[in-house]
Amino acid sequence: MSLGSVATEIDQAALRGYLVGPGDPSYDTDRRIWNGTFDRHPAVIIRCAGVSDVIAAVKFGRASGLPVAVRSGGHSFPGFSMADDAVAIDLSLMKGIRVDPDRRTAQVQAGVLLGDLDRETQAFGLAVPSGIVTHTGVAGLTLGGGIGWIMRKHGLSIDQLVSVDLVTADGEFLQASADRNADLFWGVRGGGGNFGIVTQFEFRCVPLATQVMAGPVFWPMTQASEVLRFYRDWVADAPDELMTIVINRKAPPLPFVPADLHGKPVVVVACCWAGDVEDGERFIQPLKAFGSPVLDVCVPKPFLTHQAMFDPSFPKGRWYYFKSCDVAELSDEVIDITVEHCLRISSPLTSFPIWHRGGAVSRVGDDETAFNGRSTGFSYNIGASTETSAGFAEEREWVRDFWSALRPWHEGVYVNFLGDEGAERVQQAYGPEKYDRLQALKRKYDPDNFFRINQNIPPESSAP
Ligand SMILES: Cc1cc2nc3c(=O)[nH]c(=O)nc-3n(C[C@H](O)[C@H](O)[C@H](O)COP(=O)(O)OP(=O)(O)OC[C@H]3O[C@@H](n4cnc5c(N)ncnc54)[C@H](O)[C@@H]3O)c2cc1C
Repeated sequence: MSLGSVATEIDQAALRGYLVGPGDPSYDTDRRIWNGTFDRHPAVIIRCAGVSDVIAAVKFGRASGLPVAVRSGGHSFPGFSMADDAVAIDLSLMKGIRVDPDRRTAQVQAGVLLGDLDRETQAFGLAVPSGIVTHTGVAGLTLGGGIGWIMRKHGLSIDQLVSVDLVTADGEFLQASADRNADLFWGVRGGGGNFGIVTQFEFRCVPLATQVMAGPVFWPMTQASEVLRFYRDWVADAPDELMTIVINRKAPPLPFVPADLHGKPVVVVACCWAGDVEDGERFIQPLKAFGSPVLDVCVPKPFLTHQAMFDPSFPKGRWYYFKSCDVAELSDEVIDITVEHCLRISSPLTSFPIWHRGGAVSRVGDDETAFNGRSTGFSYNIGASTETSAGFAEEREWVRDFWSALRPWHEGVYVNFLGDEGAERVQQAYGPEKYDRLQALKRKYDPDNFFRINQNIPPESSAP
């Protein structure tokens, strides 16, 4: 099948959205995704405007025999939302959000980004737990679990999920919730895009004041060993209101960072207190008083401002590489390995989070959702970044070395932080029991593995 003919085989007149093929003026923009290392050329991009388009796109994808990629926010680390010579089903135009402040629920279409959702919910002093960069897609993030600034108080994104609307591999429309297609509802809460295309999510909203005590405190990286030991002990009995993320990097040239600090290696503890601002100020004080911080911008501020704090560090189009693992605790050995490797960061753009876990996330029953690793201590999302391909291979090697050095302490991995690392790593992300259960679901809802450009759970394991 020639690529030129593909776009004409799906009837534009049958769509509310539109088709984009090679040669169309917007093709090169529309095929681009967040991670600039991927320069993929799909046969056609179907930019869906609603459920009927998604059904038509799935049926077309099936009839074409081409591989099918699904794109919402386009932030997949391994670039699974775009593929060469594939049908790319693009949901990014589906941006509807409706918050019901009385029922405290939000209806959210698949193309919504985190920042859009925050704006709509915060207008009512509400929030849906999500992630830490506003241009990430709600869809992919939620389907993998969804970790972020208020999770220790209010759980993962999936812990506030009420229902989904979904189009199956046969183009059938289904709804899944606790009492409708409950098996599928279990699977979509962590199982990613394996079972169908979610067109709409319904979330419960949680109360969250528009003003929070939040932001980063910086120390020179030469003090990282002491700072991380203090940090570990300090967060050990922190209340659920406190969420922290540790960043090791060269200080970025952002407006709030003094010029003499730009480019200097720093260790940063970023906080967010999901509760009363004065309580937060009190609890965070000992951190601010530890050692000699070179910058402290942890202050009362709008939650929306805090949510956007990391946006400039992770813009679309740079070259990125990640490798992740969970660890039970920040033992002395883990801290020493962390410091040793972070002192070797070369790229001024490389910046990666170490996530504090626990809190409300760990109190949801492990079997309630497909998400795995609720009781882990910390998540390392070791990542490197360069502006272009120049210097990228060296930074990627640094990530791999660092990750390998932590191997004796690896506990598991969050599926949304995986790269294209093969079947064994996907199995590690779910653990054997959940993986078996997910495979059984896959056999029921997508026996032909139509949705396979993802962190794939094949219906059958291949023979060893
Ligand atoms: C800058 C950045 C910040 C991040 N921060 C966080 C964070 O704070 N917390 C966190 O938990 N994760 C975070 N992540 C990881 C993020 O959760 C995943 O990359 C997620 O897949 C992004 O979703 P998306 O819709 O933007 O991605 P896409 O690339 O559009 O989708 C990724 C995959 O999800 C599936 N998918 C997407 N949409 C649908 C749909 N509607 N129906 C069915 N399947 C679908 C497909 O398999 C697709 O390949 C971050 C990623 C980036 C790049």
